[in-house]
Amino acid sequence: MLWRHGPISTLNMQLKGDQSNVSVTVHIVQGADRVALIDTGLVWAYDQLEAAFDEVGIAMSRVDLLLNTHEHMDHIGNNARVVRESGALVGAHPRRAAWIADHELGAEQMVLRFPGAEPVFDPKPEYLDWMEAEEAPVHLHLVDGNVVNLGGGVELEVIELHGHSLGEIGFLERSSGTLVFGDALMPTHVPVLFLYEEPHHTRATCRRIMQLARDRDVRSVLSGHADPCGRDEVIAWAGECLDRTRQIEQAIVEAVQEVPGADLARVRDIVTERLGKLREWRALITIDGHLRDLERQGVVARAGSGWERTARPHVGCAT
Ligand SMILES: [Zn+2]
Ligand SMILES: [Zn+2]
Repeated sequence: MLWRHGPISTLNMQLKGDQSNVSVTVHIVQGADRVALIDTGLVWAYDQLEAAFDEVGIAMSRVDLLLNTHEHMDHIGNNARVVRESGALVGAHPRRAAWIADHELGAEQMVLRFPGAEPVFDPKPEYLDWMEAEEAPVHLHLVDGNVVNLGGGVELEVIELHGHSLGEIGFLERSSGTLVFGDALMPTHVPVLFLYEEPHHTRATCRRIMQLARDRDVRSVLSGHADPCGRDEVIAWAGECLDRTRQIEQAIVEAVQEVPGADLARVRDIVTERLGKLREWRALITIDGHLRDLERQGVVARAGSGWERTARPHVGCAT
């Protein structure tokens, strides 16, 4: 089933069986002169991508531009196949272009980023198996304010939405007022601790999405792991994500207060247990980002190989 918003046809790729809770969106954007595909989704669901092109009535070979919201495996799984079929140019933010073009590099930088933390996660099932073995290069670097003109008034304005990934971008399709992003905001039902690398960027992105929804003609919002929503809903959702950032931060402060000297893995265990989230590698990235942010605020300090609470009051991320 496809969702249609102006020139955008969105496929919600869905896995079957045990993984039926795993879904991700990809978007075919048709202009008068060019066709773009935003993200390529899950490697196991390539047949759904082919069927979506059939339903839209255009050949995959007509894709001129493949635009990636960010480097994560559930969004770039079929990049090489799409490029092989179409000869499309691949565009992404420069900060993570190298990870999109080199899966092993991405796995090292994400899954194996904290080799000292137990358990050691296997990057194959955790990451590499989610993508084709073949890789596609990134040809175009997209940054805030770039406009991808597909013809006939269909224009994708690049919006930097860093936080979840430091190279995440979204697109505002101007003719239909549709904001498209990947994981800049994450629905609460996702069992992983909200994945973001830098909480201060995440907070800025939540506020930017609220601002965009208020100031620009945003009528619909399409995101990586949630149903389409409207302007008021995305404002509320961004507010919820800000609240969740505060809750995670609070849980981390409490963890290092209760267990002085707790290392990253220990803090992860306490926080994921307290918040009912999975104890896995994504949580390490989020918690590391928070600990560094709290260190900058003077609320926590390094203690040996771990962390401890300082005397400075924790006022929360009010700004
Ligand atoms: Zn992601
Ligand atoms: Zn995702």
